[in-house]
Amino acid sequence: MFIDGIKLIIDSHVHLGGPPKEAEPKTFAKLMKASKIDKAIIFRYFYDKPTVFSNRYISSVVKKFPTQYLGFAWVNPNEKTAPKELEESVTKWKLKGVKLHLEMHPTPLEKLRKIFNIAEKYSIPICIHLGNDFNQIKLLSQEFDVKLIIAHLGTGVYCLDINRLKKAIELAKDKKIFLETSGNTYPLVDYALKALNPTKLIMGSDFPHEHPLVSVKIIDLLNLSDQNKELILQKNISKIIGE
Ligand SMILES: [Zn+2]
Repeated sequence: MFIDGIKLIIDSHVHLGGPPKEAEPKTFAKLMKASKIDKAIIFRYFYDKPTVFSNRYISSVVKKFPTQYLGFAWVNPNEKTAPKELEESVTKWKLKGVKLHLEMHPTPLEKLRKIFNIAEKYSIPICIHLGNDFNQIKLLSQEFDVKLIIAHLGTGVYCLDINRLKKAIELAKDKKIFLETSGNTYPLVDYALKALNPTKLIMGSDFPHEHPLVSVKIIDLLNLSDQNKELILQKNISKIIGE
């Protein structure tokens, strides 16, 4: 065990796609082993292809390695077909959540409502890479009974913007909203922990953009009991995905 007393570690933010890309399941499986990670939530890495291509691919990887991976869909909520694609991802492709990248795909509230509606209908969480409109998310979290995972502590990938983190912390005061740690350094994760509590944080690596061992180690370095580290490394996300 990497950290004493912790039985299971889940990486909640992993991109898989390939070959021929570098983010192939085999490569990540090796890193999982080195990092004592037992399970990972996986989603899109083929950005040059339609999202449906990735969703099918992710579903096939989960089918092949069901104990190791759990898949989230990725949709562009601006696309007319997005609600249907998400619905199919859940019912047909057996994906257990959805990732939205609102920095890549800024979306008007009306279109986001359609996605939240489906997430609520199927009781699946939404993982969100936030754009600039934090208020949208606040409104939607008041309207819908949906669990939200704010990727990268709300800062972005290696953006390390404390003002964005402060706004994400405000969002996470809602009991349905959680912050995922990838793309950040130790001081920002520690800051989030001190402003909130260990029930609100979730460990993610954002592989291939980080080695997952680095992300696990950040949690290990926090001044917390093993029991509280276990919340961030596994129990919080297990509860959200209902496993
Ligand atoms: Zn990512």
